[in-house]
Amino acid sequence: MMSNLTESQLLPENAVYEHTIRAGDHWMRRIEKGQTFRILDLKGNQAADTLFYNAEDPDDRYSASDTIAAQGALYLTTGTRLMSTRGTELLKIVADTCGRHDTLGGACSRESNTMRYAHDKEHMHACRDSFLRGVQSWCHHMDKRDVTCNINFFMNVPVTPEGELDFADGISAPGRYVEMVASCPVIALISNCPQLNNPCNAYNPTPVQVLIWD
Ligand SMILES: [Zn+2]
Repeated sequence: MMSNLTESQLLPENAVYEHTIRAGDHWMRRIEKGQTFRILDLKGNQAADTLFYNAEDPDDRYSASDTIAAQGALYLTTGTRLMSTRGTELLKIVADTCGRHDTLGGACSRESNTMRYAHDKEHMHACRDSFLRGVQSWCHHMDKRDVTCNINFFMNVPVTPEGELDFADGISAPGRYVEMVASCPVIALISNCPQLNNPCNAYNPTPVQVLIWD
């Protein structure tokens, strides 16, 4: 499981942008072609639910199925090309000290809170709501149709032999990161998961940091 660990040579002090996303908050930013983008799991096992769009054409956006098909593997790690619905390579993962990231489990929603946990959890915060707030505040052309399949960085969601998803204990740890280079201008939207019902993170969502290098 920990076979594909690759460290980065980039130093945080040389980053041109740095921001800490508090647990439960969302963050959205354009990343230029050729820039390097790192997501840092500050405290360990925090799910960074992430959507990517082609900045030149936001209808062209991250596709889990095209990414899995392009690389012939279910989990994302160093070397993975993140593909769009129209076959555009959006980013390529170039360093990864966690070793596995999920693209099947989807984002938590108020509906999944009731399905997975309990009916009275419906009102609690969920990534889908954060994604909606993100796209609606980004531009008036984007709305809930633009919240599609996402990546769950730092989440471990093994697929069982029966083809079911297992939300397993995380394999990330404080200070682990994933780093990718933008192959074209992209818009990144992260919902730093506010999930208070998931034992994977000890019911304790924590901040993540994002860094960008030219
Ligand atoms: Zn979530």
